[in-house]
Amino acid sequence: MSASAVVSKVSRELLIGDSWKPGRSGATLAVEDPATGQLIAEVADADGQDALAALDAASGAQVAWGASPPSERSELLRRAYEAMMSRREELATIITLEMGKPIGEARQEVDYAADFFRWFAGEALRIEGDFRVSPSGAGRILVLRQAVGPCLMVTPWNFPLAMGARKIAPALAAGCTTVMKPAPQTPLSALFLAELLLDVGAPAGVVNVITSSNAAEVVGPLLADPRLRKLSFTGSTQVGRTLFSQSSRQMLRLSLELGGNAPFLVFEDADVEKAVDAAVLAKMRNGGEACVAANRFLVAEELEKGFSSELAGRLAALRMGPGLDERTEVGPLIDAGAVDKVSGLVAEACSRGAAVQVGGGPRHGDGYFFEPTVLRDVPSDATLLHQEIFGPVAPVTPFGSEAEAIAKANSTEHGLVAYVFTRDVHRALRTCEALEVGMVGLNQGMVSNAAAPFGGIKQSGVGREGGREGIGEYLETKYIAVNTGD
Ligand code: NAP
Repeated sequence: MSASAVVSKVSRELLIGDSWKPGRSGATLAVEDPATGQLIAEVADADGQDALAALDAASGAQVAWGASPPSERSELLRRAYEAMMSRREELATIITLEMGKPIGEARQEVDYAADFFRWFAGEALRIEGDFRVSPSGAGRILVLRQAVGPCLMVTPWNFPLAMGARKIAPALAAGCTTVMKPAPQTPLSALFLAELLLDVGAPAGVVNVITSSNAAEVVGPLLADPRLRKLSFTGSTQVGRTLFSQSSRQMLRLSLELGGNAPFLVFEDADVEKAVDAAVLAKMRNGGEACVAANRFLVAEELEKGFSSELAGRLAALRMGPGLDERTEVGPLIDAGAVDKVSGLVAEACSRGAAVQVGGGPRHGDGYFFEPTVLRDVPSDATLLHQEIFGPVAPVTPFGSEAEAIAKANSTEHGLVAYVFTRDVHRALRTCEALEVGMVGLNQGMVSNAAAPFGGIKQSGVGREGGREGIGEYLETKYIAVNTGD
């Protein structure tokens, strides 16, 4: 099926309850292909009233969904997994068209997203309680775990399918209803997923989607409404802080998956070949537009020169182009603003003395491309060492001792992930324990796994998605003091 035929099958309307609606104002929002800058679709542009209608639907469905048998929820999630896998190629095509990543990576994103439905199909059956004897012997303590209630999910554009799946799957498993607000650059993946969930039997009101160009206008009224009980947000730390404070009014349960500034540490005893392979993956997956992208390469001084030139050779050999071309290894950035931002960070580092080993600038012509880049001699005050680059740029800096490496790695407000390369098991454990992060890739360049607790500390967020921990984010604990008549 051609890419345009796939897009033409996706709904462009809001999903509210069990019906697709154009949105009250009739306005639309344009979705473009970042590889060409061309329009691919126009979808409904919701306003605050549309958002409240979606919450009406979610709230109306909550009691029945929260009380539904866990096996029913589990089976729904399993059917969603099967449906995603059977429509893998269509989903991957949509992801690539609206976000730009190479089609091979888009297929991996579909697998990753579908895995959350498979994993939480199992977890839905394992929502446990507790029954304890009171220490005095008189009375019993009964502990229940119940659905939090209607949840709002606000997601970014960089993993347009997986970021929604990572929230919806545990929410549905726990018995929560949902309102999803995808990023305006990439609404089609969320609309496709919602349609697929309806097809496999999600009851009316359990999944709602509002697409909008005005996030604050649609999210604000929902956060102020006492029927909403939780916000799950993935995006920048800056927006996360705003939403954290807005959520205090209704004392919402919160999951915040925010920005990162991942250090990638290569010690002098590391297997350098494996470290370079992992560096290519940790830097170039999603073109560097990932919260877990390696942002700073800290390399033992005796290895730094060789590591940099090896990495530069590997990045220079990557084939850049439109994501739908099967040969493409690096796609475009999301938009012109992203190219300007990455160009500015590289220019600023160079003005302070960094040297370009390979790449260094945008590729002119159609679409929003930036060359894979390696920088050496990056001074410690260069801005790109202190904020997310979100592009294919690898700054490499040397360190002299283990203590210096750890201090440099921790010298950031972020704490999402770090990567550590060493063959010394004692150093490996020491370093993993000392790093101020929620996740560590130990001798590997990727950490994402539906069965693992994904999330950060410090300014990288609150809460975990995936793993056994993931469903707990959507459950409340209720204690019943049982009078046994003693
Ligand atoms: P963003 O600008 O923070 O936007 C994320 C989402 O929030 C979008 O849907 C956005 O809609 C919405 N939003 C923005 N301002 C809002 C407001 N005032 N009220 C309500 N919603 C608002 O982030 P992004 O540029 O899309 O994504 C990149 C960021 O996401 C990076 O920082 C990356 O590290 C982070 N990220 C983190 C994880 C993780 O798991 N930790 C995973 C992926 C990405 P609009 O675009 O319309 O404003």
